[in-house]
Amino acid sequence: MSRRPLIAGNWKMHLTVAEAVQLAKALAETARNCPDRDVLIAPPFTALAAVCTAVAKSTLLVAAQNVAWEVQGAFTGEISPTMLTDLGIAWAIVGHSERRQIFGESSAMINRRIHGALGNALHPILCIGETLAERESEQTFTVLQQQIQEGLDQVTAEQMRTIVLAYEPVWAIGTGKTATKEQAQEVHAFIRGLLTAMYEKAVADSTRILYGGSVKPDNIDDLMQQADIDGVLVGGAALQVESFSRIICFQ
Ligand code: PEP
Repeated sequence: MSRRPLIAGNWKMHLTVAEAVQLAKALAETARNCPDRDVLIAPPFTALAAVCTAVAKSTLLVAAQNVAWEVQGAFTGEISPTMLTDLGIAWAIVGHSERRQIFGESSAMINRRIHGALGNALHPILCIGETLAERESEQTFTVLQQQIQEGLDQVTAEQMRTIVLAYEPVWAIGTGKTATKEQAQEVHAFIRGLLTAMYEKAVADSTRILYGGSVKPDNIDDLMQQADIDGVLVGGAALQVESFSRIICFQ
């Protein structure tokens, strides 16, 4: 089964509006030259409107870095799914390890965000991943199974068509330590098997599973050659046009 590759950049809490627009325009050009893959950027909330306008005529996809579950109300500091769709945004990252670890987001909260996105025509990118301590104590598969089952609670097979999963081992995020291609492939195959058990083979076969964690120009080609790696979610290397363009143009 061939799945269209998705190369996603998470800009986290970086860039002014002007810097974000400049980088987005340059990446839209890169994406234009690689039409056989999807390219997505997740700017900070402050730059979303300007970036959406700047790349409106391009193929570049724009995501929010998080999304609330309610469409409006007393939720100070949150951004609702309809506020995002109002800007023309169709994607949202949910459950990034920085949200889980620094801001204490639970799997139950992440599941509510997933449903908030799905109920309002947003494609969620659900992030999952184990810590170093969990990997060293051989808890990797147990932790991932729990994160996936809780994150996807009450999500139907039909809704799975719009969801992307991103496996991001916490010990590899921003550390320069990438999972080897064999480690990443082993986990991606496990996740696909879990999706088969939770849904059916057709759902597992069509779901895109991204790898994230210190993806760089020098490891992208090896990662993308793995059978179950359908793309990447990139942090640091997505902030420079040269490095992210090289990642987008993986061979
Ligand atoms: C991320 O933030 O999702 C990430 C993978 O970061 P980095 O590429 O910097 O490890």
